[in-house]
Parts: sequence; C-alpha cells; structure tokens
Amino acid sequence: MKDKTGADAVVIGGGIVGCMAARYLLEAGRRVTILERREIAAGSSAGNAGILAFPEIVPIPSPGITWKAPVWLLDPLGPLTIRPAYAARLVPWFWHFWRASFKANFERGLEVQSELMRLAVREFEHIRKDERLAPFVVNTGTLDLYDSEKSFRAAAPDWDKKREAGFDFHRVGRSEIETLQPGLAPRFEHAIYSDDGLQISDPASFTRALGESLQQDGATISIADVSGLEPIETGARIHLSNGEVVEARTVVVACGAWSKRLAKSLGEAIPLDTERGYNTTLPPTAFPLKRQLYFNDHSFVVTPLKDGIRVGGAVEFGGLDLPANFKRSDMLMKLAKRFMPELETRGGEQWMGFRPSMPDSLPVIDRSKAAPNVLYAFGHGHLGLTQSAATGRLIAELAMQKKPSANLENLRFDRFAEL
Ligand SMILES: Cc1cc2nc3c(=O)[nH]c(=O)nc-3n(C[C@H](O)[C@H](O)[C@H](O)COP(=O)(O)OP(=O)(O)OC[C@H]3O[C@@H](n4cnc5c(N)ncnc54)[C@H](O)[C@@H]3O)c2cc1C
Repeated sequence: MKDKTGADAVVIGGGIVGCMAARYLLEAGRRVTILERREIAAGSSAGNAGILAFPEIVPIPSPGITWKAPVWLLDPLGPLTIRPAYAARLVPWFWHFWRASFKANFERGLEVQSELMRLAVREFEHIRKDERLAPFVVNTGTLDLYDSEKSFRAAAPDWDKKREAGFDFHRVGRSEIETLQPGLAPRFEHAIYSDDGLQISDPASFTRALGESLQQDGATISIADVSGLEPIETGARIHLSNGEVVEARTVVVACGAWSKRLAKSLGEAIPLDTERGYNTTLPPTAFPLKRQLYFNDHSFVVTPLKDGIRVGGAVEFGGLDLPANFKRSDMLMKLAKRFMPELETRGGEQWMGFRPSMPDSLPVIDRSKAAPNVLYAFGHGHLGLTQSAATGRLIAELAMQKKPSANLENLRFDRFAEL
C-alpha cells in the first residue's frame, strides 16, 4: 500500500457492490481506493447467473414459506439443503427469516424492494451510458416456465404484484413457448414472457471491466486483507492482516458474505449468513439457447453468456468454511437435461459462490453507529448484481451527507431488533 494514512474514501471488497460504490464515490469527486484481498471479482460476483432481475421484488420470506421449506429439504433434487455441521448456527437467522415472513413484515419488505428496484433500473441506465460497460448489458428477454397449470396459478399473485410495480410481461402457451425457445420438454405449457429481460453477458468480465474503468478514472486498487476497523475522530482506522494500518475519511464495507466479521470488529452484530449457490458453465454449443430461462418450480435458471451457457441456482446453508458439495451442480444438470432433452451436459465447469444473505431478502445500506464514517453495503443475497448500481448511488449519497434516493430506514443494519 503506497498511501497508508489520510486516504479519502476506502472501499473494502472488490466485488460488484464494492466496485459500484467506488464508481459513484468517484463521480461525487472523492479520491477512492479499493482494498481487495484477492482480485477484482473474486467472490460471488464472478460466477452468478448474470440476470438483471429488476422484477424480483417479492421477498423470499413470504406468508406460508415455512411450510414449503421442509418439503424442499426432503426432495433430493430440491432447491434447498442444509449442511448438518452448520445447522445449529442457523437458528438465529431462521428465527428472523420466519418473523420476516409475517404478513405485515412481508408487505413492508415488498414495498422496500420495489423502491430499490425502481432505483436499480434507473442507475443501471446511468451505468450503461459508460461506453466501456455498455456492451456487457444485453437484452435477451426472460421466459419463466411452470410445470403445471396448478403451479402457474399459485404464482399468479406474485406476478400481479410485479405488474402493479410497473413491470411488463405476458402469459404464453405451448406454441409461443416453442417459438421463444425451441427444444424444451413438452411438459412446459404455461409460462410468462418478458421482452424487456436484461442480463450481463459475462458477470466476471463486467466486474473486471468496471474495476479497470475505475483505475482509468483515477481510483487505486490494492491487494490487502482487512482484519478489523476502529473509529477515529477523522474517519476510521483500517487494520490489515499483515499488521499495517490505513486511515481514511470514509470507509465502505462491501465484503459480501464476509462483511459480518468487519462489522463485528466495531461491536456491531448483524444476522448476515450465506446462501451458497452452485452452477455449471457449459460450452456455447451445448444448446441453442435464445434467452434466460427460469424453471420456477425448481428454483434454477439457465442463461446464455457470451462464452457459454450457465445452469445454476440452488440454496445450500453451510457457512463460509465448509468445502463445496458439487453434487448440487450435478443435481441441477440432471434437472436441466430433463427439461432441455438435447442439452449436451459434458465439458462444463462447476462453481460455487457465497450469496451474502440477510433473513428478510433486503440488503444493508447504512452507516455504522460505532463508527459513523464507516458505511455498510452488503447482504444483497440473490440480487447483488441487479442492485449494485443503486447501492453505489445510495452509498455515495450517505458519504456526501445528501438526501438518499431511496428510504434507507428498512435497510438499517440493526432493523432486526424491531421485527
Ligand atoms: C449461483 C448464484 C447465482 C446468482 N445469480 C445472480 C443473478 O443472476 N443476478 C443477481 O443480481 N445476483 C445474482 N447472484 C447474487 C450476486 O452474485 C451477489 O449478490 C453479489 O455478487 C454480491 O456482490 P458483493 O460485491 O456484495 O460480494 P462479492 O462478489 O462476494 O465480493 C466481496 C469481495 O470482498 C472481498 N473480501 C472479503 N473479505 C475481505 C476482507 N476482509 N478484506 C478485503 N477484501 C475482502 C472478497 O474477496 C470479494 O472479492 C447470484 C449468486 C449466486 C451464488
């Protein structure tokens, strides 16, 4: 590290959220340094499905969900697993998750998520104006597939909410499904199609291109592992694991699923955990994929990337330290082959990532109480890519003491004390 003291704004974490925070801080005229312990896009931001899932406004903890979870857990091809060695540590998280599913809390979550997604749409438009990043944003359209009339009907209330929030889509039947995506199993007779569906053509390259653009515009990126934070009158002191110390006027914690440790070093306990997700990236020739496919009854997606086809999803609770269980990726491939019979499943690359997940599906975008110059930007769960630019905007507004573009009351780190 060249500049050990008196840095202006330091962002800890070089994932998509940290890089977007850095982008907006630069635009606000701040001198920015990113501290990343490995490399840009080392975490969840590298291998995600790349979907800009703006319509996903419905929080996961919804009324009745706690009855569905045991059914998923019992299904070997189901979307949810809990590693036994980690189960006991999940009790507080699931307690908050259960409380978040109460009707009033769910409705508040829906409102907050809708406002954040409106901002996410606007801010991604802003990011697209940068010609170094624009080519990564592509419009492939989204096809949401259901196994049966029954499951389609069960999902209808969620689609109504999305329509009320201003998102546009229409119902399609068998023949239109076949036109929109040839080669699917005939079981799919009910689907929703959105022509507006956007995605990122390669999430890892996008995050790296953003990192490069930050450097071109004057930001510094340093490889450093942060072990703790300490408040000081002029900002915050950042302790590195090699013993060095950096001081900065503003510090942003954007370490994804690892953020909890740094908040804890300030004495702030946050119920952040990780929903581990799995995928396999196949060669582009594996299937003539035309657009993003959501297999809604099985909680996985297939996305066409610039250099491949990504089959991914699943939720595994197992913390940050247990090794990956790639049987989860194999399970998703088995399902994908069943639903896309001509899929060539050989030659894929498997990956596991740590979604940074709060129990109520909402991120933390807030100011530390113990160290008011430390800002928190993490916990985006399944939607971190989608909400990254909006988070960058809000963090820069907090740093500059400006009125935030969205209500941050329900994104406070300590909101669970009241649930
Ligand atoms: C299978 C899967 C599919 C997904 N699909 C989508 C999707 O289609 N659309 C979408 O919007 N979202 C999706 N997500 C979620 C999305 O990937 C995450 O929400 C998002 O990447 C989180 O970004 P982040 O920057 O907060 O965290 P990360 O990308 O994990 O970055 C955190 C960074 O902090 C660094 N770091 C950690 N601790 C320290 C430390 N102490 N010092 C220095 N650096 C540190 C890490 O090395 C890492 O680079 C998916 C996730 C998974 C797992």
